[in-house]
Amino acid sequence: MSTITAVKSCTTTNCAFNNNGCTAFAVTIDGKSACSTFITLDARGGLPTADGRVGACQRLECTHNKDLLCTAPGVDVVDAACTSFEAR
Ligand code: SF4
Ligand code: SF4
Repeated sequence: MSTITAVKSCTTTNCAFNNNGCTAFAVTIDGKSACSTFITLDARGGLPTADGRVGACQRLECTHNKDLLCTAPGVDVVDAACTSFEAR
């Protein structure tokens, strides 16, 4: 795999990694499509710009999942869950 899937958008503004989008270097999406990197803290962190990526995905039922990685061109996250999920 040559590219790491981008988090194109994330509307979860109460996440510590949200700054007009996802700033986490690599998020993990769990087996129910939830972003398990989501965290609320009295701090903001991550990359200087919203350049988040999907580092791992455990949602095996998704057509974009290959070897526990995401192969979609990009994903959208709403309410700390991946909405780009598509059932196989
Ligand atoms: S994709 Fe996950 S870690 Fe990134 S801002 Fe959204 S909820 Fe937070
Ligand atoms: S599109 Fe599918 S494989 Fe990619 S992060 Fe979302 S649920 Fe996982």
